[in-house]
Amino acid sequence: MKKNQIKVERIQTGTKTFFTIKNGMVYDAFGKNPVYCSCTGNTVETATPMQFANGEVFCPNCHEKKVEVIQTYEQWKTEKDEKERKMNEEKLQNLHIVEVGSDWECGLKYYGLSAQIDYDDWLKVKEHFRYYRRGWSRGQELEWNYGEPTGWLTRNPEAVEEILVGAGLIKPENTMDAISERKELEKQKKEEELKLRVAKRNELKEKMNLIEEEINKSFDASEKRELSDAETNENYFNPTFGKCTVLTYTITDTEIIKCRNMGDFKYGVSIPYSEDIENLIKEYYALNEELLNY
Ligand SMILES: [Zn+2]
Repeated sequence: MKKNQIKVERIQTGTKTFFTIKNGMVYDAFGKNPVYCSCTGNTVETATPMQFANGEVFCPNCHEKKVEVIQTYEQWKTEKDEKERKMNEEKLQNLHIVEVGSDWECGLKYYGLSAQIDYDDWLKVKEHFRYYRRGWSRGQELEWNYGEPTGWLTRNPEAVEEILVGAGLIKPENTMDAISERKELEKQKKEEELKLRVAKRNELKEKMNLIEEEINKSFDASEKRELSDAETNENYFNPTFGKCTVLTYTITDTEIIKCRNMGDFKYGVSIPYSEDIENLIKEYYALNEELLNY
């Protein structure tokens, strides 16, 4: 929103738009054309220009309410400032020094503050800051900073931090050392977790391989044959895998069938029912379920 603007809603149509106010007169959003009321006529010569006073847009002739003022610039600005103030207040609780970039030539680092501090506090650290802007500047106070960082920055973060910690603005747990230590610990923790996960996966896979070998051995002597639908679909052991090209086991009271299911084509091998083999198969799939957790 711009200065002198108000946000309005046209009562008849419900459309929302902006008007510009100049000397109590009402203009369109760009401040070019006056807004008229047609109570006295439909031409620029005969229509009545609308006015703005006491927070209301009105026609001085008919006083009929044609637009509702939703928000003035001042209200908008107050709300915006308040929102920003609150946000900054939250950020201030967590004030710390942030690295904002480095010089492309020599790698010198630039630092800023994570939140805006009060002017009185600013004066305590101001000497360590310079205002950097991109490109040339004629002012002597300003430096030519062809690298990326801009704004109020310091290249002496330790001094700034010491002052702000001393003033109670940066909490001990938010110093650069404390933060990098915390980050390092988090990194280590993540690496440890990853290592553990990989180790656990490998352990499970190894177990599964051994069990699979054991199961396979018991099927070695049997001959491969094509299977009927009944043999593959009943007691379908591991439905989570779906039905395509998947190795499954069909277990009945009399036999255990190891089947490969490739769409319409099913073939497999079978052995007489054995409780030991059933348990091995169950263990195999239980381990497989567990593997999904890692
Ligand atoms: Zn009117």
